[in-house]
Amino acid sequence: MKWRVDVAVQTPAHSALGDVLSYASVVPMPPGALVRVPLGRREVLGVAWAVHPDEDGTAAPIELKPIGAVLDGLPPLGDAWRDLVAFAARYYQRSLGEIALAALPPQLRDLSTVQLARRLKRQGAAGTPEATGEIPQPVALTDEQTGALDRFDAEAGPFLLFGSTGSGKTEVYLRAVAALLERDSSAQALVMVPEINLTPQLEARFKERFDGRFGAAAVVSLHSGMTNPQRLASWLAAHSGTARIVLGTRMAVFASMPGLKLIVVDEEHDPSYKQQEGARYSARDLAVWRGQREGAKVMLGSATPSLETWHQSRPAQGTDAGGRYVRLAMPSRIGASTLPAVRLVDMNLQPPRTVLSGALLDAIGQRIARGEQSMVFLNRRGYAPVLACGDCGWKSECPHCSAYRVFHKIDRTLRCHHCGFTERVPRACPACGNLDIAPVGRGTERLEEHLGELFAAVKRPDGSVVRIARIDADSTRKQGALESQLAAVHSGEVDVLVGTQMIAKGHDFRRITLVAAINPDGALFSSDFRAPERLFSLLMQSAGRAGRDAAYLSSQGATAEMWIQTHHPQHPLFAALRRHDYPAFAQQELDERAAAGMPPFAFQALLRADARTQDAAQAFLNAASVSADGLEGADRVTRYPAVPLTIQRVANVERAQMLLESASRAALQRVLAGWQPLLHELRRAPEGKGVIRWLVDVDPHSI
Ligand SMILES: [Zn+2]
Ligand SMILES: [Zn+2]
Repeated sequence: MKWRVDVAVQTPAHSALGDVLSYASVVPMPPGALVRVPLGRREVLGVAWAVHPDEDGTAAPIELKPIGAVLDGLPPLGDAWRDLVAFAARYYQRSLGEIALAALPPQLRDLSTVQLARRLKRQGAAGTPEATGEIPQPVALTDEQTGALDRFDAEAGPFLLFGSTGSGKTEVYLRAVAALLERDSSAQALVMVPEINLTPQLEARFKERFDGRFGAAAVVSLHSGMTNPQRLASWLAAHSGTARIVLGTRMAVFASMPGLKLIVVDEEHDPSYKQQEGARYSARDLAVWRGQREGAKVMLGSATPSLETWHQSRPAQGTDAGGRYVRLAMPSRIGASTLPAVRLVDMNLQPPRTVLSGALLDAIGQRIARGEQSMVFLNRRGYAPVLACGDCGWKSECPHCSAYRVFHKIDRTLRCHHCGFTERVPRACPACGNLDIAPVGRGTERLEEHLGELFAAVKRPDGSVVRIARIDADSTRKQGALESQLAAVHSGEVDVLVGTQMIAKGHDFRRITLVAAINPDGALFSSDFRAPERLFSLLMQSAGRAGRDAAYLSSQGATAEMWIQTHHPQHPLFAALRRHDYPAFAQQELDERAAAGMPPFAFQALLRADARTQDAAQAFLNAASVSADGLEGADRVTRYPAVPLTIQRVANVERAQMLLESASRAALQRVLAGWQPLLHELRRAPEGKGVIRWLVDVDPHSI
């Protein structure tokens, strides 16, 4: 008896090999088994996708290579997991093997059968730590939390937990998970957060709540910041069912969890749920699909939901049957502390080149004097975005990109934020020799310096000098730097915190009573139609950092404030923000999108090409467009002309893209599926000459 086994392996991108490769086996194995198979000169990890008995050998007319080894110490990957992988591959136009292998912990690829067996034995011998029975006293729930949990219990979902910042969404997640695990002794829950640096905080809360009840092995994390052995250990615990709760970032959506009954996606609107390279999947959207396939309840949480999710959770009205999601609203902040007052500063009324208005400086100064903290937020890192010569007009362009290199004063470098090209700052203008070259505009480094000068004479309540700190991608590059900087803010060592959007997300600073956005106007008139949505959510999130501790506020006699400096104080986005009125903002945006036929009222995909020249990139896209003419569904899909990307050239590569749009998701998917083989062909044709790579981005985030 022989078997023919179709195996998903990671084949080189664009190799145009099939989704699975066939191998021969003399032993049977279940689909989902992990195997090692020869591929070229190497032996690689693969997943047995389908297993066919080959009784008389006729099913395999050509001699198949034999399977190298079966990793039979591991239970096979389940049908539901394989369906998820197959769906993701199909929907996002990638190969099965790429998605399947990327979903497995990297270390699994390098382990032999013997090594894996040893590893499993070690993990098994460590045993499952006993529950101590120490269960923390539950906090009292608000009426809104109780109401949300009751409906969550009674209905099937998917759910949108629409709760303002500080309304206690995390407590709702904890209770929903607790109720599930109590009820079903084999159930597992997956809880996702957008950022790696938010996982330790969340892990601490979950461990505190669940270790006593279910043992110290019940909660595991899964994210790319872990070492390979850690990731493997967490993955094995999830796959074997030992881990009851998996906390992770977007990659965790692919965790193998045989008992999965609940998926939470916190901050579901966050752009980082969308993978931006390789397989460009949305972990939020896959979570909803996975929940439906596996009969697991799905809860998406946000104070500023994505417009897609908001629209999908609209209540029935008139002839509209409403969306598919159930909306659970928690509008109030816990502890009855009100949301911060929003103050708009009209920068048109300030002296020219004002960076920080007098009123804002006064407000920050008063807080320093009272020992409170302020957070000043500017979405641009470095000292200045450009260095320029006033004599000849030279600017610090990157020789490899269509962008300027950013001036970093701390290490006196000019750095390209797109390709990484870095040079020492020249002493004189490289074009004319003028010694007087100057920074133009400002980033967080310069803002930090500026605030330091302005408040140099101001004293803290104990008479000591003011402390300004900065948190951004530059200040946190070293391992552990972010943790120690956050700790300094929490312990009150910092009076004014300067940073990028990194500091706006999730952190629970208790003593911050003022948050200021210095220059948010760029996003108001961006060519990217999602920019206002992102800006609104960022400002709401930032505002949510102020005045989180009602007891602290009242003990200080303080009020929480969000300051916004803008040249467009009349903009409707700010009017909605002032009232903390997300529904009003969303309605206004949705009306505009409906009128313009944009998502969520239409579905989009991008075909992107990178090439040595812009002409070559666009020629490929235009030829691709022509090749799609006869495809099924093509009459219902609009194909726009090829255009260069906003930053057209990065690292000497020219980039162009073409937008596809349809009112029918199914028609768009049919076109993309039929198009894939044509694109592979085209790449090898004369039109593909000069193309370095191409990719399809389904449901793209920015256009
Ligand atoms: Zn010059
Ligand atoms: Zn560059």
